[in-house]
Amino acid sequence: MAPILILLGAPGSGKGTQAKRIEAELHFPQISTGDILREALRRETPLGLKARAAMDAGELVPDDVVIGIIEERLQHDDCTDGCVMDGFPRTVAQAEALGRLVQNRFQMKVIQLDVPEEDLMKRLTGRRNCVKCGAISNVYFSPAEIDNRCDLCGGELVQRADDTAAVVRNRLAVYRQHTEPLIAYYDRQHLLHTVDAQGDVSEIFDRINRLIRQNGSGAVR
Ligand code: AMP
Repeated sequence: MAPILILLGAPGSGKGTQAKRIEAELHFPQISTGDILREALRRETPLGLKARAAMDAGELVPDDVVIGIIEERLQHDDCTDGCVMDGFPRTVAQAEALGRLVQNRFQMKVIQLDVPEEDLMKRLTGRRNCVKCGAISNVYFSPAEIDNRCDLCGGELVQRADDTAAVVRNRLAVYRQHTEPLIAYYDRQHLLHTVDAQGDVSEIFDRINRLIRQNGSGAVR
């Protein structure tokens, strides 16, 4: 069965960065509900307008909306051989819906990116995204060589509207309340793998890559 890799972790744990890397090197398409919602918001589609208030406040978009997005996205041909999910599921209800959607079609592997709480604030408020190629950098940990310009393509670097300190605090609280319970949920199903997600992006990717190739559950440090 084709694998679905689920990257689970707090905002700022590196899900987006690692999902992009997995897509580039292992050729599993990245499915990011956050990216899909941001694109809908930018284009002011009905979906974007529905999601705007929750996203601006760092709250979760309703379960039925994101489940609908995933149900539709999983039908695309590029998912036939598997995919990597970043930012979904985020609630037990979403995890249950995903379980029903993938039954007999995909083999789930959940990879928890473990980062100490005190690192998350700097990772999020320092994060910058390239408007052109989507690359992610950080003013504290991986500053661009030229201010506000992407090292890879020269595109403009911007801060996400929800990466400001006040919204970040709320996103972390929402994570603790709604998403953290998924760690125990997937552990009970023996689908959970934990990766130490501190340090160099390439080293973290290597740990994830080893897990992807390995059978059974466990931790890689
Ligand atoms: P992200 O880019 O994954 O941090 O998501 C940005 C924002 O999109 C979140 O703060 C939520 O408002 C919304 N969002 C993304 N994925 C989900 C999800 N699975 N469930 C509910 N809301 C989501």
